[in-house]
Amino acid sequence: MQIELNENSRAWQQAVRHYVDTTLIPREVQAESNAGELPPEIMREIQDQALALGLPGMDAPARYGGMGLGMVDQIVAWEALGRATNALCWCFPEAQSWMYQACADSEYQLESYIRPLLEGRRREAYAITEAESGSHEVINSSATHTGSGYLINGEKWFVTSGNLADFFFVQAKTAEGSDALFLVDKDSAGIEVVENPLFSHTFPSHHPTYRFTDVAVPERNRIGGPGSGMDYSRSWFRHERMTIAARMLGAAARMIEEATEWASQRQILEEKLIDKQAIQFMLADSATELWAARLMTFEAASASDRGEDLKAMHNRCSMVKLYVSEMANRVADRAVQIFGGRGYMRENVAERFFRELRVDRIWEGTSEIQRLIIARSLLKRGLDGM
Ligand SMILES: Cc1cc2nc3c(=O)[nH]c(=O)nc-3n(C[C@H](O)[C@H](O)[C@H](O)COP(=O)(O)OP(=O)(O)OC[C@H]3O[C@@H](n4cnc5c(N)ncnc54)[C@H](O)[C@@H]3O)c2cc1C
Repeated sequence: MQIELNENSRAWQQAVRHYVDTTLIPREVQAESNAGELPPEIMREIQDQALALGLPGMDAPARYGGMGLGMVDQIVAWEALGRATNALCWCFPEAQSWMYQACADSEYQLESYIRPLLEGRRREAYAITEAESGSHEVINSSATHTGSGYLINGEKWFVTSGNLADFFFVQAKTAEGSDALFLVDKDSAGIEVVENPLFSHTFPSHHPTYRFTDVAVPERNRIGGPGSGMDYSRSWFRHERMTIAARMLGAAARMIEEATEWASQRQILEEKLIDKQAIQFMLADSATELWAARLMTFEAASASDRGEDLKAMHNRCSMVKLYVSEMANRVADRAVQIFGGRGYMRENVAERFFRELRVDRIWEGTSEIQRLIIARSLLKRGLDGM
């Protein structure tokens, strides 16, 4: 089920796959039995290897020291990373290309916030979602102009990696009703953790709720011009929707391979489990859906590299996220079933992905929100314009 890649992309795929197979996967069970955490020295080693591979700068332009990879090569890397639990493969910060566009006019922002991500010296988190609604981009947090800067007030939910980050991208509304994006240091006065809930998955990256009370943010920490805040968040959504899909391709492939291997050696009375057609059908459906998912993801990545129209890309990223996340959840459910009781054990790959992949139908826009985006695109541009 190979996707045609050039020689450089294949070498890159092998390098990331080697990292995943030799460094991440062997530590999954240890992390899972310890709330997703590994001893700090091992975590450091894993992070250093990610840095040496250049993973934090995959999307960062080469002129800023990044790898400047196209979307296809990024998908290649994230697909390989997705074979391991997200508890471990998310061990590095990401300096994404939209950040360089958004902060292009500010040497201060590039040097103090974006370059340290590339070099693995700082970690970021995104604070967009609020209690009232995550689905509809309704931002109630306020940014009040004070002359020398802004005072931010509001509450942000599900701030992924908030516990590990040292700064946030915060979305807030100015008094003029403009959506604005700010770089906010986590140790700023007025930021407090309201709650740090437990979630289904076991990741060292937590998702705390933060309250911002009169948090003073200097003028120079506002990103871009008036009204551009939500545009940057949408760039982030597009990037995340594609990379989430890529990770799920890797997860689904691994589950299909491991379930096939298990069924091939599992003896049920006089027969191998793999000889039962009921099992073969589950594997056949999974492999077929994975193939379709890989084709659409790589085609969307190629379209992005070809410079396809942004609106068409926005729609395609939604289609990819919708289809691949639902496909991977179906594969996880079947894989648990094929493993039987063992598929319900925490040390089993299918059990872990069964829990981990569920959120991929929720975050970065739920499946329902992706369907709304796709339907709107169909109504506006027709099938040929999607
Ligand atoms: C583990 C985790 C990590 C997250 N990390 C981050 C993060 O780092 N930063 C951040 O800003 N946010 C983050 N989020 C928030 C996430 O993006 C939101 O949870 C998600 O967008 C859904 O918003 P909501 O939870 O408010 O659900 P709601 O908006 O309340 O939706 C509830 C349900 O209603 C459905 N629904 C809503 N509107 C419609 C409609 N018009 N038609 C049909 N159905 C509809 C939704 O699909 C959903 O099923 C994270 C969430 C989770 C669970």
